[in-house]
Amino acid sequence: MDNIDAALWSKNHLWHPFTQMQDWEASAPLVIRDGHGIMLTGADGREYYDANSSLWVNIHGHRRPEIDAALHRQLDTLAHSTMLGLVHEPAAVLAKRLVEIAPEGLERVFYSDTGATAVEIALKMAFQYWQHRGQPERTRCIALTDGYHGDTLGAVSVGGIGLFHGIFHPLLFQAEFVESPSRFATAEEASAAIETVLEQHHNETFAIIVEPLIQGAGGMLVHPPGTLRAIRELCDRYDVLLIVDEVATGFGRTGTMFASDQENVSPDIMTLAKGLTGGYLPLAATLTTERIYSAFLGDFSELKTFFHGHSYTGNPLACTAAIASLDVFRDSQVIAGLPDKIELVRDRLAAIGQNAHVGSVRQCGLMTGIEIVRHKNPCVPYEWEQNVGARICIRARSLGLITRPLGNVVVFMPPLCSTAEELDDMLTIIETAINQEMLAFDND
Ligand code: PMP
Repeated sequence: MDNIDAALWSKNHLWHPFTQMQDWEASAPLVIRDGHGIMLTGADGREYYDANSSLWVNIHGHRRPEIDAALHRQLDTLAHSTMLGLVHEPAAVLAKRLVEIAPEGLERVFYSDTGATAVEIALKMAFQYWQHRGQPERTRCIALTDGYHGDTLGAVSVGGIGLFHGIFHPLLFQAEFVESPSRFATAEEASAAIETVLEQHHNETFAIIVEPLIQGAGGMLVHPPGTLRAIRELCDRYDVLLIVDEVATGFGRTGTMFASDQENVSPDIMTLAKGLTGGYLPLAATLTTERIYSAFLGDFSELKTFFHGHSYTGNPLACTAAIASLDVFRDSQVIAGLPDKIELVRDRLAAIGQNAHVGSVRQCGLMTGIEIVRHKNPCVPYEWEQNVGARICIRARSLGLITRPLGNVVVFMPPLCSTAEELDDMLTIIETAINQEMLAFDND
């Protein structure tokens, strides 16, 4: 098509996610034309750092030759075929590869296409498991305040961010919310809060769902060390399943392949998406144990089948991208290269934390957030309606860097392949954006 006006046509015909379209219609949308390495290029020819990894998905950079080549090869073979009643090579190979790197005990892979669907599957699987075990009274899930697991109704039921989820309350299933571990100083205190609920409700609870080590969308809220391990122990003691949502933390983001690895935790169910394909294509996976899987085995007439699936479950192109991404992890020693990058970011963030408008800096590996406040001592936050996070991100964009805030928290979550120089440069831009925008804000 000639004369494409993507900006205008998006205003006239699109409905963007998590976007107030009234503002969008009044804005000058940035049209992305291409990506290369950790840069995105606008239709105007300007280059921008992709500092939030295209919403936390990109791992090895855009147009990564190894992934591109694998996809070209797969396109010559098969773009899609269903997994209902059939299988293809990429789905089988990827399942085997995921089981090899996943925490011990996770041996079955159920595919879907986004983080939210991986979570829906985890919840339904956990619930149905207890049905087959003859405990139909287990209808509750324990979840954490400030938790985020996606936007479909099951995932929203266990979501603890009122701003996004409150309106859907009448449509949700019942969950028991426990105070986010980030509000406690120690793992003991954080897990004691969970134990209080378990003591009362464990017989009606099918699972606890947690984001491991850090709650991302809730504002990059880091948990006290040992919390995940303590939750695993509670689940064992009270015989409740542990669902660990690694959609954001998986694939190296926290410094290890999975966040669970850092506390030597094997979940009963683990959800993966975002970085699974290196940021190329939508694919998600829900991994589980042989214990859960085998509870679904039986004669068809026993109705133990897991009746869940999607048209594009296990899409061959997406699986191929994921396999190629795992190859890059292995061949380029990606995880081994992370500690130095994480240290560099830690040092730079410590300096940014001195800014009079930075209330706190939070980091788990290369997942970081910078909280902007009106005053530091005592800490006085900005009202969320003032949109300071968004204002700083718009300023950063004018300086050549793309990211999105979480309320008043500026997110910095770069692709893992970013070099030391690039990390340094990106953080300089973010620091400059904070300084410039806060000056302008104070003068408003
Ligand atoms: N779980 C977690 C921990 C997430 O951070 C997200 C997305 N930010 C999701 C689930 C949902 O993933 P998706 O947007 O792919 O549905």
